[in-house]
Amino acid sequence: MSIVSGCDVGSLTSKSVIMKDRKIIKSCVIKSRPNPKDSADTVMGEALESAGLSLNDIEYCIGTGYGQEKISFVNESISEITCHCKGARWMLPSVGTVIDIGGQDCKTMKIDRDGNIVKFMANDKCASGTGRFLDVMAALLDLDISEIGGLTRRSKSPVTLTSTCTVWAQADVIKYVNSGVPIEDIGAGINTAMAQRVAILVNAVKPEGDMLMTGGVSKNIGVVSTLEKLIGRKIKKTRKADPQIAGALGAALIALERTENGGKK
Ligand code: ADP
Repeated sequence: MSIVSGCDVGSLTSKSVIMKDRKIIKSCVIKSRPNPKDSADTVMGEALESAGLSLNDIEYCIGTGYGQEKISFVNESISEITCHCKGARWMLPSVGTVIDIGGQDCKTMKIDRDGNIVKFMANDKCASGTGRFLDVMAALLDLDISEIGGLTRRSKSPVTLTSTCTVWAQADVIKYVNSGVPIEDIGAGINTAMAQRVAILVNAVKPEGDMLMTGGVSKNIGVVSTLEKLIGRKIKKTRKADPQIAGALGAALIALERTENGGKK
C-alpha cells in the first residue's frame, strides 16, 4: 500500500507523478518557474492537493530533470536518462529505443530486454532539434505550440529552411511569411527541419526493437510522422500515460523499487 512519487523539473515544464499500489493516481504538468525549487514545490503541491494527500503521506520520492539538485523534498535524485527509460518501459514493455525530446535537449537511448541502457546519444548544445526550436517558430507564426504539428498533414509543398541554426531559420520563416507562402507549408518545413535533426541522433544509436518517443515534442504529430519517414521505422503509440511525464513516472517507479527494497539503493 505504499505511496511514492517522482518529480521532474525540466527547463520548460515540471512534472510530478504520485503512485499508489503501483498505479498512477495523480500527475501534474506545469510551466517551469525561473527558480527550480519553486517549480518543484508547485508541481508536487498541485498533485498532492488534488489527490487529497500531503508530503508526509509519500513514502519515497525521487527527483530528476535539469533542476533535480534544487528539489527540497526528495529522498534522492536520479538522472533523466535512467528515469525516462524506466517510464518508457512501463508504458511500452517491449521498447528497445527511446527518443526523448524536451525543451532544451534531445536524447536517444537504446535499452536491452532487461531494461539496461546500452547506448545513449544527446544534443544539448544547440536549440535546433529541441522543443525550444519549435516554441520559437510557433511564436513567430503566432500559433499555439499545439497547432504546429498538424500543419504537416495539411501541407502540399513544405518549405525548406536553409539553415539548421534557430536564429537564421527564423529569418527564413519571416521571408516565407512575407512572400505569402501558406502557413501549413511553413509549419511543415519547420517540423521537417526538426525531424531531420532528430533523425541524425536516432540513426547514431542504430535503433533496435520497438521505438517510443517521450517528452513534450512527442505531442507534435508533424515531427513524429516526418521522423518515421526519415528513419524508415514506426514510432509506437501508448495510451498508458502521457509521454511528457515519462521522466517523473520513471522516478516514481524507481521510488517504488526503493520501498520494496527497504529504502536501499
Ligand atoms: P522539459 O522536460 O525539457 O522541460 P518537455 O519534455 O516538457 O520539456 O517538452 C517541452 C516541449 O514540448 C516544448 O518545447 C514544446 O515544443 C513541446 N510541447 C509541449 N506541449 C505540446 C503540445 N501540446 N503539442 C506539441 N508540442 C508540445
